[in-house]
Amino acid sequence: MAIVQPVESAPGARRRLQLCSPATLEPIGEIEVQTADDVREALERARKAQPQWAALPIEERVRYLERALKLVIERQDEIIETVLEETGKARGEAISMEIFASCDVLSYYAKRAPKFLRPEKRRLHGMLRFLKKLKVVYRPLGVVGVITPWNGPFILSMNPTAQALVAGNAVLLKPSEVTPKSGALVGEIFEAAGLPEGVLQVLTGDGETGAAMCECGLDKICFTGSVATGRKVAAACGQRLIPCTLELGGKDPMIVCRDADVKSAAAGALAGAYMNTGQYCCGTERVYVVDEIADAFTDEVVKLASNLRQGASGEFDVGAIFWDKQLDVIERHMADAVEKGATVRVGGRRNPDLEGLYYEPTVLTDVDHGMQIMREETFGPILPIMRVRDEEEALRLANDTDYGLSATVWTKDEYKGVEIAKRIESGGVCINDMTMTYGSPEAPFGGLKDSGVGQVNGESGLKSYCHALPIFTDRFGGKQSRGFYPYSAKKDASLKRIIGLVFGGPLRRLLG
Ligand code: NAD
Repeated sequence: MAIVQPVESAPGARRRLQLCSPATLEPIGEIEVQTADDVREALERARKAQPQWAALPIEERVRYLERALKLVIERQDEIIETVLEETGKARGEAISMEIFASCDVLSYYAKRAPKFLRPEKRRLHGMLRFLKKLKVVYRPLGVVGVITPWNGPFILSMNPTAQALVAGNAVLLKPSEVTPKSGALVGEIFEAAGLPEGVLQVLTGDGETGAAMCECGLDKICFTGSVATGRKVAAACGQRLIPCTLELGGKDPMIVCRDADVKSAAAGALAGAYMNTGQYCCGTERVYVVDEIADAFTDEVVKLASNLRQGASGEFDVGAIFWDKQLDVIERHMADAVEKGATVRVGGRRNPDLEGLYYEPTVLTDVDHGMQIMREETFGPILPIMRVRDEEEALRLANDTDYGLSATVWTKDEYKGVEIAKRIESGGVCINDMTMTYGSPEAPFGGLKDSGVGQVNGESGLKSYCHALPIFTDRFGGKQSRGFYPYSAKKDASLKRIIGLVFGGPLRRLLG
């Protein structure tokens, strides 16, 4: 059952896609795939609107974020229902990941953006400090393209959009074709907050629309999605010489040390593997547990996982797979693992009691790195546990991957945890927790290796929606440089004397 299906449309008309809910498989609407012409027109509108938006004092732009925050709180039930219809995730996850996190982001930047983007006076070093003054001002890039996936359809659209807007940019947002309504709500919230027309436009469509955005002349692309698409976006941005951030997939390892608290590590493994039905970019995709505690840890995981409730309505813990394409990946990885000798301890099949796209929370043992389940992003509710000799072996295996988004280490010894963390090839690491990496804007977020390019969020993330413009002025005012001409042997000799004095002698401590 395809969640996104082409619909026949009149010759020459835009392509249309019909959407179904992964929870009920019932049709929930149609979208038009916006074409390259539509994208160009949207860009023209954005270009017209952006200068006035950027000219507002940042304190004024912050007010739109404040109003958007109020509206997200007021309209949270509508947002939750839309997300549930499009994804079938657990209600608690819609509230925590989509609503709480969006409120947090809006509140965080509304409070801090004026300080983060305030022009900075920077003291110059060396002799220049006696001659010149430097001010760095944060000038918006212009029009930013935000392209987002389906696993966190509201928050992953809201977060970059809010940051790009408050920095003074206009935004073209294209949510995933799987979850267009949740993305459209970001546009509706800002429209209701009074955002001037053209400053934020939400486009509908699939890869055709996304590719057109990368080609249309935007000033930056902020992309969140798969590695395969990330490569295409990077290539297109490379051709146009525009910056992009790429937040891509992961295969996050969890290292359970011999001194870990077994119960809390097992609970953490569950949360890491099954949150958002495993479709969380920083989810736990593989566990390495040291031999001494492997049995106790695995037994606890099996016990907890067996008690999870999967459902489509009412109270439940684990929801649907949001897209049939992802379900195909999960089933392919599972078949490969079982064929190569993995043991299914819990789950291991589609849920026969539910109509929609449901795969049971699954625990696997007897896994190894010859299996896809340990090497490729599965993005499903699968928890493969591998027994290892010691922490060194765990570390070696954790790094034996093309990915590097995030990782967790479980130990009672914080020093040891931090030392292991420093050696994991990963964008971020949590000790004895698995929820913090994306959730805290103070932490730069972004993957290593195939997991991405660039870091987002927080002060540096916000600044990346701007050009840091250095402006030099004369320290004593009014002086205009007369340049160096004509060059002469006398000037050359003076400069060489200065080099010797400043860099080759005791003055270096003062002026270097
Ligand atoms: P995807 O790459 O298939 O699609 C992402 C977006 O790109 C969609 O809006 C899609 O329409 C668009 N797109 C498709 N082809 C395009 C093209 N040629 N040019 C431009 N845009 C194009 O990813 P997905 O399946 O929607 O999302 C799941 C992936 O996202 C997983 O790999 C997951 O790990 C990753 N993800 C990463 C993060 C992170 O922060 N690192 C967060 C969430 C999800």
